[in-house]
Amino acid sequence: MSAPGIIASGSRDAYFALSEEIAGFRDQVRAWVASHVAPYADAVGCGTFPQHSLTSAAEHGYMGIVVPAAYGGMGRDHLSFAIFVEEVAYACASTAVALDVHASVGTEPLILTGSDEQKARYLPLLSDGSLLGAFALTEPDAGSDAAALRTIARRDGDTYRLDGSKIFISNAGHAGIYTILAATNRTVGSRGISAFLVPADSEGLTVGPPQHKLGLLGSATAELVLRNCRVPVSNMLGPEGAGFRVAMLALDSGRIGISAQALGIARAALYEAIHLLKKHHGPDVPQGKQFVLADIGTHIEAARSLTWQAARDCDAGESFTTIASMAKLLSTDTAMYATSAAIDLVGDIMEPGAIARLERFFRDAKATQLYEGTNQIQRVVISRRLLGS
Ligand SMILES: Cc1cc2nc3c(=O)[nH]c(=O)nc-3n(C[C@H](O)[C@H](O)[C@H](O)COP(=O)(O)OP(=O)(O)OC[C@H]3O[C@@H](n4cnc5c(N)ncnc54)[C@H](O)[C@@H]3O)c2cc1C
Repeated sequence: MSAPGIIASGSRDAYFALSEEIAGFRDQVRAWVASHVAPYADAVGCGTFPQHSLTSAAEHGYMGIVVPAAYGGMGRDHLSFAIFVEEVAYACASTAVALDVHASVGTEPLILTGSDEQKARYLPLLSDGSLLGAFALTEPDAGSDAAALRTIARRDGDTYRLDGSKIFISNAGHAGIYTILAATNRTVGSRGISAFLVPADSEGLTVGPPQHKLGLLGSATAELVLRNCRVPVSNMLGPEGAGFRVAMLALDSGRIGISAQALGIARAALYEAIHLLKKHHGPDVPQGKQFVLADIGTHIEAARSLTWQAARDCDAGESFTTIASMAKLLSTDTAMYATSAAIDLVGDIMEPGAIARLERFFRDAKATQLYEGTNQIQRVVISRRLLGS
């Protein structure tokens, strides 16, 4: 595939100025991705877990990208994080999911709501890659309506005993620690939900077989079963009953990562199409096809602007729930549109390698519209804000 051209993230910094330092970080990430992610993308896209890339990410410090330096992390902001995830997803969306889930919903709840002792115990291990993080909210009967979860946590002396099951858990089976949401009081709805840091080797925690998916085949997704799983009281994140807030905080910034994943996939589809069109038509790409490229490029730029604005608002301590939802909605719809349109553009001239890549981009794009809140749920969030309700 040709190198990213005019609309690669930040290559024209005039619209949305990146500081020299962040532009330098982006270049460093691009070089790392080219050596340690891209060469494995075909195999990972066929179902191999991207362990090599994760090990290398740990060696380069990326596992702790948003972890404060005091706990061994890079201490970078969410704009850097969005750039990092987009660059990884441009090469391999499955690898981006593993890294994104680890760094955002797998680590941020601890950064945002953990006690000093919990942070000191776990953040250095999450930063140096000794532990891979994961986040377990979804259940068979609690997806969009997360407050309906049935996993229960009963206090028993110095421990809680967790019983229930979680589905569609990214990084399951590879994670060293899970942030698990469970009800400590079923009578008060979302105010009765608590969050727990659960080490993977906890007795009573088992991981089911891999769940079948349309795309993101290299990303591990499985069920978690909790049977009398004992978790020390000291592993509760925040006070009892604060878990729903912990989850919503994590998902707000998590949506910046999902937007960035989707942007990377959309950009990959666009550049694959451009590469094939130029190869086939030379300088005379038919105008009808040029217009489709223009539309895809415009959608990507608009979606990236929203994503970066959401990241900047998050980093500035502003409210960013609505803009993160807008970014997630636009970026992931753009990924679906771009990957579909790219196939339309070059369907008649595809080469075997390109067919496999474009098919992978198309399949990988779909899940971005679903996880961390489906796009219907993003519309609920946005319209509520618009209506002031
Ligand atoms: C690849 C993948 C990885 C995932 N990783 C994780 C993970 O690591 N951790 C985790 O906890 N979860 C994970 N999930 C789960 C994901 O977050 C849920 O699938 C998602 O929240 C939707 O829940 P659901 O599948 O139960 O669908 P449902 O909530 O049953 O929704 C079904 C349909 O109804 C629509 N709908 C539901 N309620 C409303 C409403 N109020 N208004 C309008 N439309 C509505 C939805 O938009 C959707 O189209 C993952 C999912 C996938 C596909």
